[in-house]
Amino acid sequence: MTNNAFALLREIDRILPQTQCGLCGHRDGCLPYAKAILEGEAANKCIPGGQPVADALAARLNRPPLPAEKSVWPIQSDGRPQRMKAIIREDECIGCTKCISACPVDAIIGSGKLMHTVLTDLCTGCELCIPPCPVDCIELVEDTAPLPTALQQEQEQQQLRQRYYAHIQREERRRIDRKGPIVRAEIDTELFSQFSQWIDELPSIERIEAAAKTVTKQDASITIELAKLRTQIKKLEKQLSVRADAKKQQQLEQLQQQLNLLQGN
Ligand code: SF4
Ligand code: SF4
Ligand code: SF4
Repeated sequence: MTNNAFALLREIDRILPQTQCGLCGHRDGCLPYAKAILEGEAANKCIPGGQPVADALAARLNRPPLPAEKSVWPIQSDGRPQRMKAIIREDECIGCTKCISACPVDAIIGSGKLMHTVLTDLCTGCELCIPPCPVDCIELVEDTAPLPTALQQEQEQQQLRQRYYAHIQREERRRIDRKGPIVRAEIDTELFSQFSQWIDELPSIERIEAAAKTVTKQDASITIELAKLRTQIKKLEKQLSVRADAKKQQQLEQLQQQLNLLQGN
């Protein structure tokens, strides 16, 4: 992408709310939609942004204004859909941690087998934490706080963008270490990585997908090999417990050596 294209991509992304909800049809959030708009997609699909965002994009891109895609929520006085917040019914929470991975802006705190809580100030009401909850204890309520000014909105978007990039990087590492549940399809990090290197104020995203795949593949083949060896060893041990056999005994010792080597003993 040329510098001019990156500059325009940045401007489009700045207009988008940074809720990262995927309601525009771009699962990985606002930046992929910004790129699609740059490449010609209609600029009226951001549901949380509503008519003000559709109009701002049309004006910036010199395109005819289009009616914004409809939200299920009523429209507020600023022309955007009602702001919502998630709350967890804490007495029902089983502490499975699935909602933590699902939240794009890390607005949920809690740890394994403990009650979880939404940090209300950070929650955008994107709803992404609701489907993964196995006990259905997360619900949305209207945000009753006064509407933000244009400046507060800009600051909020900057903060959400930063939190999402930090989230992407952390989830990327987490996938490699395989800690905790994975509840979201893998984010395509290439665009985010390029963009974060181009924009100073964003946390850099280091792509470790390729390494992850290698490790996973290696781990899988070692696991299969270990299982095979254990089965052969068990079979030989059973046979030897019935009748002694020097050849089989030698085979057993060799297999045990291989098993120890693979296990790193
Ligand atoms: S906030 Fe708008 S642009 Fe961003 S992911 Fe949601 S619908 Fe798409
Ligand atoms: S807590 Fe739930 S609704 Fe709120 S931002 Fe996170 S995922 Fe979205
Ligand atoms: S997904 Fe539901 S049950 Fe699991 S930690 Fe979150 S709120 Fe609690």
